[in-house]
Formats: sequence, C-alpha cells, structure tokens
Amino acid sequence: MIVADRKKIPEIRDMIQGHDRVLLVGCGTCVTVCLAGGEREVGIIGAALRMSLKLVGRGHVVVDQCTIERQCEDAFIDILAQRVSQYDAICSLGCGAGVQTLAERFPQKPVYPGLNTQFIGILESQGVWTEKCLGCGHCRLGEFAGVCPITRCAKRLLNGPCGGSREGKCEVNADTECAWQRIYDRAKALGTLDRLDAIAAPHDWSTGIEGGPRKVVREDQCIAGLGPKS
Ligand code: SF4
Ligand code: SF4
Repeated sequence: MIVADRKKIPEIRDMIQGHDRVLLVGCGTCVTVCLAGGEREVGIIGAALRMSLKLVGRGHVVVDQCTIERQCEDAFIDILAQRVSQYDAICSLGCGAGVQTLAERFPQKPVYPGLNTQFIGILESQGVWTEKCLGCGHCRLGEFAGVCPITRCAKRLLNGPCGGSREGKCEVNADTECAWQRIYDRAKALGTLDRLDAIAAPHDWSTGIEGGPRKVVREDQCIAGLGPKS
C-alpha cells in the first residue's frame, strides 16, 4: 500500500484559510488502510479544522467533507464533479497521486494536500508501517530471498552486509532491522545460501524515477481509439 500520514492541523488550516468554502476529500483505498485519509480521518480532521479556524478568527470558513472510493481514478472523481462547483478549494486527504488527479480534473480549483505521502510499505504491527519497496522498476527480490536491499539496507548494498550490523540491527539506525541479516536468515531457512555467493550485478537504475515520471502501458487493456495507439 501507499503509506501516508496526516499533516498537522495548523499546517492544513494555513493552506486553506484564505478560502471561504473548502471541500475536504478523503480516499477509500490505501490511505484508509493506513488510517490517514479515509472516512473516519476526514471526519476527525474536518472537525479539528473547523475548531482551529474559529480560533484564528476564520470561523466563517465552511469546511465540508466527503470520501470517494479512489482519488487516483477519474471514474470515481465523476461522483465529486457536481459538488466541487460549490466550493472555492479542495483539500485532498489522498496520497500525492490522488491530490494531483484532483488538480488535473479541476483546473480552476486550488487543491491542497492534507497528507504527507511517505512510501510503499506494509502494516508491521498495530500503528506501525514500514517501507518495503522503492518502486525501482526492475524487481530483484528473487536474488535476495524476498528481502529488498535497495529499500531496506541503509547503504543499498547488493553484495552482502557492511559489517556494522549488531544483533540483527542496522548500524545506521538501531531501530531498523539489518536487511542483510534478514536476507541471510531467509536464504539459510530456504537452503539457498549458496546463491548469495554470486556477485550481484550493479542495479539498473534506468527504470527508476531519475529520468522523470514513469508510465506503464498495457496495450491489450487499452480501449480502441483511447489508448496510446489512437
Ligand atoms: S527490487 Fe525494486 S521493485 Fe523490487 S522490492 Fe526492491 S525497490 Fe521494489
Ligand atoms: S547494518 Fe545492514 S542494513 Fe545497515 S547498512 Fe549495514 S548491511 Fe545495510
């Protein structure tokens, strides 16, 4: 999932307080699961914002709220379209992709981010999310016993540990597991330790973000006349 956390209420308030009518829009997918921008959080943040606006003498600002299934897909934004015309601005509680999809769909409306999008990760334990994938575009988990050193090793080492690991923890941050300890433990359990003897090739970063935004095209899924061939 995309993991995000919410901005502080005064920060959101400062972004929106110049408007008279603001629609707070939640998203029912990743940010709901990571408890940042779903229906429940939209309700809580909406109430907190109204209180905060009152405290700075902007109590007349209307903050209404709604949540759609997905902000990153135009078909779900259709449901919002009519309602948006009644507001001066939108504050999105979706991830960065959701915020930008709303901004593209409503070019005349200021759109503000209510969340800080963090990473692709998992729910590690109740209330704790951890990063697992950088979206490098060239997945090599098969080489590393299903543990990503590119994301989880602080030095992105591909050919074994740095030597600073202590009791399974990373020398850069003692709160973090050493990715190479995890790789070793898993490979041992799987009986594939010998595979780690091979020299891992340098990573191909040509599929990464550095060359600008990436695109996935599935021509077999494109609708005739609307796809990349049109
Ligand atoms: S190798 Fe790349 S795609 Fe695979 S988990 Fe790591 S960062 Fe993600
Ligand atoms: S201690 Fe482990 S995770 Fe940390 S930098 Fe060294 S090899 Fe990578």
